[in-house]
This record gives sequence, C-alpha cells and structure tokens, in this order.
Amino acid sequence: MRSWSYLTNSAVKQCLRRGQHCPSCGCAKSSVVDRKWLVTALRRCADCSLLFRAPTTTKEENQSFYQQDYQEGFTTQLPSDRELAALLQAGFAGHERDYTVYLDVLQALAIPPAARLLDFGCSWGYGSHQLSQAGYTVDACEISRPRADFARDKLGVNVRELATLPDRTYDVFFSAHVIEHVPSVREMIDLGLRLLRPNGLLVAFTPNQSEARRARVPQLWHRQWGFVHPQLLDERFLDRLPHPSVFGSTSPYALDQIRSWKGVGKQMGAMDGDELLLVIRKEAS
Ligand SMILES: [Zn+2]
Repeated sequence: MRSWSYLTNSAVKQCLRRGQHCPSCGCAKSSVVDRKWLVTALRRCADCSLLFRAPTTTKEENQSFYQQDYQEGFTTQLPSDRELAALLQAGFAGHERDYTVYLDVLQALAIPPAARLLDFGCSWGYGSHQLSQAGYTVDACEISRPRADFARDKLGVNVRELATLPDRTYDVFFSAHVIEHVPSVREMIDLGLRLLRPNGLLVAFTPNQSEARRARVPQLWHRQWGFVHPQLLDERFLDRLPHPSVFGSTSPYALDQIRSWKGVGKQMGAMDGDELLLVIRKEAS
C-alpha cells in the first residue's frame, strides 16, 4: 500500500468512523494526542494507554504491507556478498546494525552467556548473528521469507517457524524495532511470556514516543508515527502493564539502574532518549 492509497483509505475510514478502536486491547475510547494529514491522528487508548495511529489498519492490510511493499524495500537493502563479508569482518562495528548497545543491556540484566534466546523479527539476521557471537544460543523468527532465507543461508541463523516453538523454553524473548509494527502489542507480549521460562525476560527495543522526547525533538516525534508505525510506546503505556518491568530510553541506557533492578516491581529511567527499552520478567507460576 503506497502513501497515497493509505491517505485515501484513511479518509474513507474516517468518514465511516472505522478503525478507531485500540489495536491492542480493543477499547473504543481514546483521545487525540497529535494530528497529521487531516485524516489521521495519533490517539491514546483510554484503557491500556497505548498510543496508536487512527484510522487503524486491519490485520489483512498489515499482512499485505509486510509481504509486499515493506518486504520489497528490505529485499533491495539486503547486503551483497562483498558488503556482508566486510560487515562480518568488522563485527558490525560502527554500522547502524551494530548491537553493542543491546549486548551491554543484556549483560547489565545478568543474562548468562549460555542463555537460550529467541530473536523475534530477526530481519536478515544481523542481530541474531551478533547475539550468537556473544555466546547466546539463538533461535529466530521472521515474517518475510526472503529475509528469513538470507539469515539462514548467509549467516547460518537458526530461523524457525513461530508455530513450532515450544512453550516455556527461552531465557530471553528479544526484539529490536518490532513491537511498533505488530498487529497487537498485547498479543506479542503474551506470546513472549508464553515462550519464556519462568523468570525469563522479555527484552524489547522500540522508538520512544514519550512526551519528554516530544519536548526535546518535536519534529522527529511528530514524524515518527504514521502508516509504518501503527503504534508507539511510552511510559504511560508501560506503567499500566501488569508485569514486573524496567524501562527507560537511550542517551545512553542507564546500565547501573538496569543492574540494580531485582526483577520485582517497576523501575523507570530517563524518558527523553530516541529509543526505548522495555524489560518484563515472567513471574514463576
Ligand atoms: Zn488499548
């Protein structure tokens, strides 16, 4: 779906008052936080506090987008053999896909090197590869077939079908820039908690849509929501999650604060950075 048809589609839905329910909890009540293009708005769910773009897209529209348009864009961005060799030789150092910051967070969370980790939404495998190199035992999932094939064939990533993954298996359910794209945030969190062992950690990185960041970089904040990001997270949403969690934003992540979290209650760090970290501990039951 191109931007023009997205706007036309949004205008039609707006006239018909469709696509106004929260995509995560289904609540019909929400309030406008920001507007764009006359026919689209960023809304705050009155129940779960999620920030979502309205009119929303249906699961079918979402699926079509990720299997066609978004996939095409990414496919053309797959590195050539020569580019990949250079990235591997450099260990992705200094590259936009350099996972050093994420590895530091995992270390601060005291994830042992032999931990079993699921990289949910692994794209072409750059992250799974770096997580494996750091010593973790990594499985991965990816919705796009060409990207999944690239990860498996070129980087040896153990890409698995989501439906075949056993429950209560992983020490870490990891995702980087995935949760803002999925049809339902709640379903993704429930999935992560189902696949985790008791006391396992869901670790998600995502763009930060907090008011503190809005105050610091209003134009970037405004540009961030739209068709490609059907929802965005901030501390008001995270604070309402019924799980022990720690969250904060970059510039850089407060690793000492992450280290001091004992896995109980909620702990919030600075919220004005560009990227947001969410960690949820699965309670033993
Ligand atoms: Zn909601």
